[in-house]
Amino acid sequence: MTLTEKDSQYLWHPYTQHKTSQAPITISKGEGALLWDENGKEYIDAIASWWVNPFGHSNKFIADAIYKQLTTLEHVLFGGFTHEPAIKVAERLMEILPKNQQKIFFSDNGSTAVEVAIKVALQYFFNKNEKRTTIIAFENAFHGDTFAAMAASGISFYTQAFQGMFIDVVRIPVPLKGKEQESFDALNNVIENYNCAGFIFEPLVQGAAGMVMYEPEALAKLIKICRENKVLTIADEVMTGFGKTGKTFAMDYVSENPDMICLSKALTGGTIPMAITTFTQEIFDAFYDDDINKALFHGHTFTANPTGCAAALASMDLLQTGEMQANIERINASHLIFQKKIEKHSKVITARTLGVIFAVEIKSDSEESYYGSMRNKLYNFFIEKGVILRPVGNIVYILPPYIMTNEQLQKVYQTIEEAIEMV
Ligand SMILES: *Cc1c(COP(=O)(O)O)cnc(C)c1O
Repeated sequence: MTLTEKDSQYLWHPYTQHKTSQAPITISKGEGALLWDENGKEYIDAIASWWVNPFGHSNKFIADAIYKQLTTLEHVLFGGFTHEPAIKVAERLMEILPKNQQKIFFSDNGSTAVEVAIKVALQYFFNKNEKRTTIIAFENAFHGDTFAAMAASGISFYTQAFQGMFIDVVRIPVPLKGKEQESFDALNNVIENYNCAGFIFEPLVQGAAGMVMYEPEALAKLIKICRENKVLTIADEVMTGFGKTGKTFAMDYVSENPDMICLSKALTGGTIPMAITTFTQEIFDAFYDDDINKALFHGHTFTANPTGCAAALASMDLLQTGEMQANIERINASHLIFQKKIEKHSKVITARTLGVIFAVEIKSDSEESYYGSMRNKLYNFFIEKGVILRPVGNIVYILPPYIMTNEQLQKVYQTIEEAIEMV
């Protein structure tokens, strides 16, 4: 049996209708921004393997840190025990996170980071004997696939089978340019009519919705409204964190600080699954009591895995080098030039850039669904050309590893231009 045949015999892939989709491509090697399949065909990874990989595949520096940690202390339970890598990660994050963030809680993936934040928001009020059970979220949000994260997500594709089984979530519109007041009014209205515990949002960029962008001033205003009404705010930086927007965190653009922040994806440079939820001292204090019932009874077996922590420390080292910061600026400048060129194209509705994130919306005759026909046509074209891009309906976005070369970037742009001509 070939690997592909064995795959189809045994494996169930994410977001995949196995009856109608093509067989997956077997990747056998990765280096820098490139991947190679089992037949030696080369691909440019223009979406950093679902936004996790800023420093390139098979990065030696991170691999060495992981190996060193694996052969010193690979894992120890985090209940009743601690270790230096976890403490160092906390110290490093304290240096770079918004100053009001004082406590960090480890888990394994973006969804669990969100799950923890939502549970903490709900229990915070439970511990204070206040009845607040509604979570506010944006339309078309994506916060992950576990139950509370899914409840907060607004993309029906992911959640339609589970409607009616969720925690209480009320949705408000995203403060898109020119529509900010609608969003502010909706938030005030929701806060007035429901007992709201928290507001969760993807700061400045809604990734899974198709890199939908909005301004920091609008987000600051929404956070301010929440603070005035004692509604806890949760910045889901799972996608935006660690340089994607051009600053370390998207919240670095925003004048108001959130109460909680969710991190994952690029946290370990795309090597080991790990996530972190961070909190203010005030939130921690609402759980700090003689009464054991007020504690946070949440944990995962691999909480604060030392190997993951070592990978996170190495990743933060790399992110903070002058070379990596220059790469982020180089890619941003390059995107802006391409945006200027492409947005004039007659088949383009709009294009946008923030940091290393670029998105272009292509005109389509029919309403394009998430996994519609244009999307499939585009995706197949990109794969054939050796460029990994996963369009969202009629939106094509690039989120490259920061080490992608100019030459590789130009090939990605050129392939997108060809695709626009083709559809
Ligand atoms: C990817 C993502 C998640 C979910 O992370 P997983 O690791 O896939 O569970 C949550 N929030 C945002 C903003 C994301 O982009």
